[in-house]
This record gives sequence, structure tokens and C-alpha cells, in this order.
Amino acid sequence: MINHLCVIGVGLIGGSLSLALKKAGYVKQVTGLGRSIENLEKAKQLGVIDDYETDYAKVIPKADMIFVSVPIGAMSEVFRKIEPHLNKHSIITDGGSAKHTIIESATKILGVKVNQFVPGHPIAGTENSGAEAAFDSLYQKRRVILTPLESNSTDDVAKVSEMWNIAGAKVDEMGARHHDLVLAGTSHLPHVLAFALVDCLNNVDDVDEIFKYAAGGFRDFTRIASSDPVMWRDICVNNSEAILAMMQSYQQDLDNLKEAIHNSDSEELLKIFTNAKKARDNFCM
Ligand code: NAP
Repeated sequence: MINHLCVIGVGLIGGSLSLALKKAGYVKQVTGLGRSIENLEKAKQLGVIDDYETDYAKVIPKADMIFVSVPIGAMSEVFRKIEPHLNKHSIITDGGSAKHTIIESATKILGVKVNQFVPGHPIAGTENSGAEAAFDSLYQKRRVILTPLESNSTDDVAKVSEMWNIAGAKVDEMGARHHDLVLAGTSHLPHVLAFALVDCLNNVDDVDEIFKYAAGGFRDFTRIASSDPVMWRDICVNNSEAILAMMQSYQQDLDNLKEAIHNSDSEELLKIFTNAKKARDNFCM
């Protein structure tokens, strides 16, 4: 049970966690901290949070769980604002999509207090942003990856894990570098490709004609290109090494396909498409 949850950045990820925990009766009070009053006021009106503040000094000392769900580029600023007011019994956790650089900045800014920070990443989301996008079932049957630090207490990790279980998710643990590599392939690369495809088509001469006849396949493939550009800029900057490695490997596959198409190599094309279909049918059913 959480007495006082503080959500910093009440958008899709933070707002949905708050709603899920409130629905389960697992939290007594949720206070939102954030940047724009408009979004915080909207969050309160929608019942996503109970109240809100803009002054960290008034909330952080009282919160027993602090969930940071701002874009990765804003995390350092948030850690700097938390640090002076952090109660030694509070736990900080986050929902950032790349873990290694967040841990580096938390370690630098929080100093010894970094042992109170249990890094995490819910593998759930939509292309919508802000408090209005939050919904209580976002984490049902989804996975959350925790990348605990050596200095974390087992008790703090267990409390964060329990919070996510109550929100409906299954929790896995792994190292931050491994997390960043895995997510570069399964989430970051697909988003980069979707943004690139839409940008590419948007720059051709017959752009209206192309989008007019966009059918199901185009919509399925590019839905995620409607995601928040700031969030995705921050993910690319903060997981560049792993994303570049995945892009290089993808580039190799594209080159193979290009050659097969150029040579009208039906056998090679059928082999690549059949392997891909088998793999997807196997893993995504
Ligand atoms: P979101 O809906 O845009 O919410 C982010 C919130 O952070 C907004 O309420 C925004 O407030 C606030 N914010 C932005 N900059 C801030 C700052 N400098 N100081 C304080 N608050 C600030 O984004 P989200 O989708 O919930 O993503 C939040 C985090 O979760 C990101 O780190 C992302 O990597 C991670 N994540 C996202 C997904 C996904 O699919 N969306 C999935 C897993 C993890 P304003 O309204 O004032 O701008």
C-alpha cells in the first residue's frame, strides 16, 4: 500500500499508473508535479490525480513513492529538483524508455541517495500524450522491466515490483545495457523506421495522392509515427549506440532485399519473406 504517490509528469505513462493504482485501492493520495498548470488542472479534473503542486519542496518530503514520467531529456532537471527534499524513506522510480543514461545522470545528481532510485520501464504505451491520454488498463497483462542498481535495497525493489503487479503488469529484471539493446530492436528501431517512412513519403511530389490511397498496411506500419516527437528525439539521443547498431543490421537486410529485387531473384525474396512471416507468427501470436 502506498500512502502518498507523487507523479512527476502526469501524461500517458504517469497518469495511467496513478489511475490503475487508484482503481485497485492501493494508493491513498496522488499528487501531480509538472510543468504546465493546464495539464495538471486537466489531470485533477479527470480524476487522474487528487491534487497538484509546482513546488517540489512541498511534496517530495511527504511522498513515499515518487514516479518520474517526464521525457528523458527532462529527467536530469527533475532529479536536481528532487534531491534537496528527498526523505530517506522515500523510493524514486521512473518510466523512461532508455535506462543507461538515466542511471548515469541519477548517479551524478543524487549522489549517495541514488540507492533510493529503482529504474524501470513499462513496455506499454500508445501514440497519445498528456493527462487526457491516460487510462487505468494500460498496464494490464503488459511487462515492466526493472534495471535495479547494486546499491538498491531488496525491499525497495520489491515495493516497486509490487506496485507494478498491482497495476496489472508482470515484472522482469535485467541490466540497463541489456535493456537498452533489447528495446533498441523491438521498440526504438520500429519507431525510427515509421518516422522515416512517413517523412520520406511526405517529401515526394505526389504526397496528396500517396496519403489519399494509404490503406491498412500503411496505417498499421505508421501509427507509431504519430507519437510525441520530443519523447522520441530524447530516446534516440539517449540510446544512440544501440539504435545505431540495430540500424546498421537493418540496413544490411534492406541492401539484401534491394539486390534481390534488382535481380528479380524470386527465390531469395520468397526465402526472406517466409522466414520473416514464420518468425512473426511464432513470436506475436
Ligand atoms: P507524455 O504523455 O507527454 O507525458 C509527459 C509529461 O511530462 C507531460 O505531462 C509533460 O507536462 C511533463 N513534462 C515534460 N517536460 C517536463 C519538465 N521539464 N518538467 C516537468 N514535467 C515535464 O509522455 P509519456 O508518453 O507519458 O512518456 C513519459 C515517459 O515515459 C518518457 O520518459 C518515455 O520515454 C516513457 N515511456 C513512454 C511510452 C509511450 O509509449 N508513450 C512507453 C514507455 C515509456 P506538460 O504537459 O507540461 O508538457
